[in-house]
Amino acid sequence: ASTEPVVRRRVLLAKPRGYCAGVDRAVQAVEKALEQYGAPIYVRKQIVHNVHVVKTLEERGAIFVDETDEVPEDAIVVFSAHGVAPVVHDEAAALKLRTIDATCPLVTKVHKEAVRFAKDDYDILLIGHQGHPEVIGTTGEAPAHIQLVDGPSDVANVEVRDPEKIVWLSQTTLSVDETNETVDALRERFPLLQSPPSDDICYATQNRQTAIKEIAAESDVVIVVGSRNSSNSKRLVEVAKDYGAKTAHLVDYAAEIDPAWLEGALTVGVSSGASAPEILVEGVVDFLAQHGFTDVQEIESVREKMIFALPHELRRDLRA
Ligand code: SF4
Repeated sequence: ASTEPVVRRRVLLAKPRGYCAGVDRAVQAVEKALEQYGAPIYVRKQIVHNVHVVKTLEERGAIFVDETDEVPEDAIVVFSAHGVAPVVHDEAAALKLRTIDATCPLVTKVHKEAVRFAKDDYDILLIGHQGHPEVIGTTGEAPAHIQLVDGPSDVANVEVRDPEKIVWLSQTTLSVDETNETVDALRERFPLLQSPPSDDICYATQNRQTAIKEIAAESDVVIVVGSRNSSNSKRLVEVAKDYGAKTAHLVDYAAEIDPAWLEGALTVGVSSGASAPEILVEGVVDFLAQHGFTDVQEIESVREKMIFALPHELRRDLRA
């Protein structure tokens, strides 16, 4: 009999991971629109930031465009989960497009906060990432009142009209810890800075970060399934490293895993961003099993029950 010790190589699967209620709703909105109205259905921007999702919907007849003026008159266009500025709704109306707004309700909530504080003439400091579609959409609600603060290092650049009348809001998919740092730095400069009425970083972002923190310290390597432009997925990689994972990588597919990452590892942590379908995580788990990581344990840190109804324009037609 072999005298070699049995080495148990294990996978820790973070839960919750993957699809959030807003992504599920947005992807379903395009699928149901394709069923209800037939192809093509136009989608402004990537419906959610995941290459696999976009490719799969394209194969079914969705056409992704960057701007509304690329959509032919009378066609149907879906607005992505990240939300749009009011001007985009106006453009679509001027072009006589039929629209389905798949903006996540939790992004809409931030839009409403921005409108309300702008109406009360506050300066709004929007913590978020430059160029992200959600930030562009939220800023479009009140461009004269909103300035972007892209992390703690950007705080020095902030200028306000009245330091007694300022509020911070945020993108929904940021790192909770880094946002706290940014707020602390802002508050040092502006002690009377007000906070949003409720968390802008959404439940799904927070829960996925909590879950990855639970497995990070025990993991030699963490693999996060998600696309390069997915903000919340990139944050998961950073959080994993901050919380003790020796290394962490973002991959779209299992095929992107370099087996060299696994050399000497006993425990691999796995999670996925809010826009990554579970089938891709299954692919990663299979890949790991083929490399000797056969003992899979799911570590659930928070139970999620959130679901959102489909966009009302679509529900109306589905009922008819
Ligand atoms: Fe909505 Fe949060 Fe999902 Fe974004 S990550 S779609 S804000 S639930």
